[in-house]
Amino acid sequence: MSDAPILQLNNIESSYGPVMAIRGVSLSVKEGSIVTVLGANGAGKTTILKTISGIIDPQKGSVTFQGEPIHNHRPDWIVRRGIGHVPEGREVFPLLSVHDNLMMGAYTRTDRDEVARDLETVYDYFPILKERAKQDAGQLSGGQQQMLAISRALMARPKIMLLDEPSLGLSPRLTQEIFSIIRRINRERGTTILLVEQNANVALHTADYGYVLEVGRIVMEDSCERLLQHQDIREFYLGQKDSGVRGTRRWKKKKTWR
Ligand code: ATP
Repeated sequence: MSDAPILQLNNIESSYGPVMAIRGVSLSVKEGSIVTVLGANGAGKTTILKTISGIIDPQKGSVTFQGEPIHNHRPDWIVRRGIGHVPEGREVFPLLSVHDNLMMGAYTRTDRDEVARDLETVYDYFPILKERAKQDAGQLSGGQQQMLAISRALMARPKIMLLDEPSLGLSPRLTQEIFSIIRRINRERGTTILLVEQNANVALHTADYGYVLEVGRIVMEDSCERLLQHQDIREFYLGQKDSGVRGTRRWKKKKTWR
């Protein structure tokens, strides 16, 4: 992992009409790392990812990728810079085959031999996709569609992958399986990962660094190792009641425990 940030958000504010979804969000993702943003339903996690990938234009602030400002650019331009977005709900093409969905991920690439090699790599990560290559993607289970959505993003050879709640709707076993592949992708391909999750347990055991988002604001950040030890995280996000002192919501004012 390098110390240089590959992605930085600085004081971002994004809205849907009159609804302000995120306010003053700043975060930094080191190259080669896995970073997570934790938050409850409606906290603004999806909005952060949509702002990075250009689906939403921020009203304020900046997004910088590899030192270059990318906010106010179109989503297709941002994808070509090396940012892959795996949206919540997967959004695979249900009437296309698994294979054709994967090839859609590689549509901007001209290096055919490398594309063929990457196809074998994603089939190695998720062998079930190879077995189902000719079937319509709409016939896959939820977990298999999640695998396909991640694999389709990988086919573009992203430098960073934005993952929106990959555990949503999956059994604990399948969640573990998908997260172990996410770790492999990070380790073996060096792909940086920005992961937003409600499932704090799996996210904190996967990522290196974490941010906690509440009602559109970052209220806490630290290494995942330290977040896992923090009493408020244990009580409010991991559902673990420690004996003795109750959680005090000490992060109401943003703090970094160092
Ligand atoms: P979830 O886990 O439910 O997806 P989230 O943390 O990803 O939640 P966002 O989807 O980013 O949260 O939503 C942040 C806020 O913006 C919420 O108050 C939500 O109601 C609002 N919001 C999201 N999408 C829209 C939209 N298309 N129009 C209006 N308001 C929206």
